[in-house]
Amino acid sequence: MARKPFIAGNWKMNMTAASGEKLIKELAPLVADANCDVALCVPAILIPAMTQAAKGTNIAIGAENVHWAEKGAYTGEISCEQLKEYGVKYAIIGHSERRQCFGETDESVNKRALAALANCITPIVCVGETLEERESGITEKVLDRQLTDGLKDIEDVTKIVIAYEPVWAIGTGKTATDGQAQETIAYIRKKIGQLFCPGCAEKVIIQYGGSMNAANCKGLMAQPDIDGGLIGGASLKLDFATIVNFDK
Ligand code: PEP
Repeated sequence: MARKPFIAGNWKMNMTAASGEKLIKELAPLVADANCDVALCVPAILIPAMTQAAKGTNIAIGAENVHWAEKGAYTGEISCEQLKEYGVKYAIIGHSERRQCFGETDESVNKRALAALANCITPIVCVGETLEERESGITEKVLDRQLTDGLKDIEDVTKIVIAYEPVWAIGTGKTATDGQAQETIAYIRKKIGQLFCPGCAEKVIIQYGGSMNAANCKGLMAQPDIDGGLIGGASLKLDFATIVNFDK
């Protein structure tokens, strides 16, 4: 069965309830006939208002993180139960900004992913190498570690989404070439096949993320292993609709 493309936005620490609502209202008619799944992952504080704004549209609302514990003394974190109360369907996990600025590790990524799965929230697990790692020729080694440790004990890998986000391409305006993104994502798929089973790997949605925009989305999405995009900057404007409609 063909994999259904999935375009998700990552608002990061941007937007307010007012500006977010305005954008969703403007985007909704533009993406209504999309042939792909569409989501916007928004700051936790905006989840109630954005869920309301997206009601009746084909835009799902996601979170930018989720904690593994049911509840308790984890100041600043958010639980699956809290997300589920608003019908949140997706949670980004292990974004490179969380890894670099907030000490996220493969182990914590794994705990968050397992908790999300146990609560029917689809984890969008981010992996990717830094520029230094790419230039030292260890991209595959880094991805092996992130996938082996980050996806440990996952029973059904087809229930997760992977976002391959080369760190050097995030927010820099420097996109991986179509060929670079395809080659690395094909490698990720092969590795998932080894860790789980080849048939499962063929079903896993793998997005590309890193300065994907209205101008470069068609070329990236034309690659056989690229099933979608995780979009930062361009998800804050109507360009997001152009990306969602990449096939039109
Ligand atoms: C991201 O934050 O996941 C991302 C890909 O950002 P940008 O599109 O701005 O590079």
